[in-house]
Amino acid sequence: MSQLLAGKTAIILGIANKWSIAYAIAESYRREGARLILTYQGERQKATVEDLGKELGADLILNCDVTKEDELNALVGALKDERLDVVVHSIAFANRDDLSRPFLETSRDGYLLAQEVSSYSLVSVSRALSPLMTDGGSIMTLTYLGSVRVIPNYNVMGVAKAALEACVRYLASDLGAKKIRVNAISAGPIKTASAGGIKDFSKVLDGVAAIAPLKRNTETAEVADTAVFLGCDLGRGVTGNVIYVDAGFQVMGLQSPE
Ligand code: NAD
Repeated sequence: MSQLLAGKTAIILGIANKWSIAYAIAESYRREGARLILTYQGERQKATVEDLGKELGADLILNCDVTKEDELNALVGALKDERLDVVVHSIAFANRDDLSRPFLETSRDGYLLAQEVSSYSLVSVSRALSPLMTDGGSIMTLTYLGSVRVIPNYNVMGVAKAALEACVRYLASDLGAKKIRVNAISAGPIKTASAGGIKDFSKVLDGVAAIAPLKRNTETAEVADTAVFLGCDLGRGVTGNVIYVDAGFQVMGLQSPE
């Protein structure tokens, strides 16, 4: 076995259940020998994430709602004696209403909520945790093609992902001197709890499988293995980037005639 992450400690934010992309990343990280720290979003998720964390052999499982400054501070307090090598930010949220009606109808509150949870949180999490990355390391987040193309119903989340990708570039610039790399993985559509909130999501899955060069959808394990690459020394020259793991869908213009 390769053990690409042996000796590294990774904190993974964003496991809600077994279908979460963050869970697949934790599985790949475990396989590659990383020491795991997981977070969950409030009491409602605590028992599930603790059970999954036990299965994964996680060392610490801590609470953190990224919209609550006191919880982020408490997380840093609980980690004060740790050295972190990898931070995985796999967090996003928008109101269901804003993922089904026309983008034009987006409310101010819905817009700000999507930005706060899905984009600003990468900034606040990086600011809070990067001081613990005393030996350098890798911060990564998850994004989607809806940041640069119009995907039906992705709406306010597409705008939040555009901001998130810009945050990746600015954070990479700020943190590079500390040998901390910051990147995003743009995953193809995957059926998870968050994706279930997007109207007609199954049609997106069908469309991608028909059009993508690999003629199929993306698997979470493929995203997770790219997260291994970014987290380990193989990715040492890569920062400020968005890496697509989407069966090639984003390169297609028109579908080839049969
Ligand atoms: P998921 O629902 O399993 O994960 C989303 C996570 O965000 C959950 O764990 C949830 O608790 C967390 N979260 C939401 N608000 C939070 C808050 N205030 N504080 C802390 N955590 C909070 O769904 P997923 O599909 O695994 O999503 C993970 C990431 O991947 C998201 O950024 C999502 O936009 C991105 N992504 C998903 C897809 C897809 O098709 N599923 C494609 C590309 C990118």
